[in-house]
Amino acid sequence: HAKSLGRNTYQFFSAEMSAVATERLALENALHQALSNGEFRLYYQPQIEVCSRRLIGLEALIRWRHPEVGWVPPLRFIPLAEETGIIHRIGRWVLEEACRQQREWQAAGLCIVPVAVNLSPLQLQKDDFPEQVEALLSGCRLAPGLLELELTETAVMRDVGRMSDMLRKLKERGTRFSIDDFGTGYSSLGYLNRFPVDKLKIDQSFIRDVTRREDHAAITRAIIALAKQLHLKVVAEGVETAEQLEFLERAGCDGAQGFYFSRPVPADEIAGWLSREGAVQDRR
Ligand code: C2E
Ligand code: MG
Ligand code: MG
Ligand code: MG
Repeated sequence: HAKSLGRNTYQFFSAEMSAVATERLALENALHQALSNGEFRLYYQPQIEVCSRRLIGLEALIRWRHPEVGWVPPLRFIPLAEETGIIHRIGRWVLEEACRQQREWQAAGLCIVPVAVNLSPLQLQKDDFPEQVEALLSGCRLAPGLLELELTETAVMRDVGRMSDMLRKLKERGTRFSIDDFGTGYSSLGYLNRFPVDKLKIDQSFIRDVTRREDHAAITRAIIALAKQLHLKVVAEGVETAEQLEFLERAGCDGAQGFYFSRPVPADEIAGWLSREGAVQDRR
């Protein structure tokens, strides 16, 4: 790595540094391999409307199965993919695959709900990102409302001026935005007015013990109230128990997502969810 050699020459030669560098290089190569060998998959997790218990959306989550190592969790490789820049290609693959899958469900005559895709803040640093998304949607003949983009608070706060232009461009064409892991970022709330946000996703760290810790219960209720006041949808992440769901129902939360309903599953397992919903709609 010539670049790190220039900046950190004396550190570069320490044994510890080179072990880390070697491991990183191996992982970086493995990510390139993964893209060209098709080792990535998208899994999908249902989002449920609390009052009706009906499916209202899906979140696409990347999965990587390395031929020798096995499953590598996204939190292990996404940060490195961001550091090395390969996240642009991975992120593009994720968007393309999510749209392709939507198209396939649509072609199969299944009920279609919006699919949420997680974005790396770096993807929004490409000026042509809105055009990329638009080309993708029109290429798949998908209504833009069927694609939702998830961003973290920290991501939108990075470059507020540019970000609001970018999001507005996408919003004008109908794309929806959610703030992921809401409540854990380090940011002011003012951006909620400046950005065209549609949905807040309450971080799972608050939901985990929402029925046991009064402070987390209070934060959860406050986020729900904030969302209502700003006319945003609000979805709780990491719902694992009936008690948590009851709490959310009493608190007036719109949506819930978590192992209580389903783990993230491959696309073919989602077809069952979609056809059940289709049947419900047909009867109306
Ligand atoms: P996230 O977007 O907040 O996704 C929610 C994570 O919580 C997922 O972990 C999901 O499997 C997990 N989860 C869902 N329900 C429950 C539950 O009831 N209990 C518990 N304990 N966990 C639950 P996963 O798939 O390992 O993803 C972790 C993070 O990696 C994601 O957090 C997201 O930030 C990132 N990520 C995943 N896929 C992508 C992607 O395609 N692109 C980018 N840029 N980031 C991704
Ligand atoms: Mg997410
Ligand atoms: Mg989250
Ligand atoms: Mg997260």
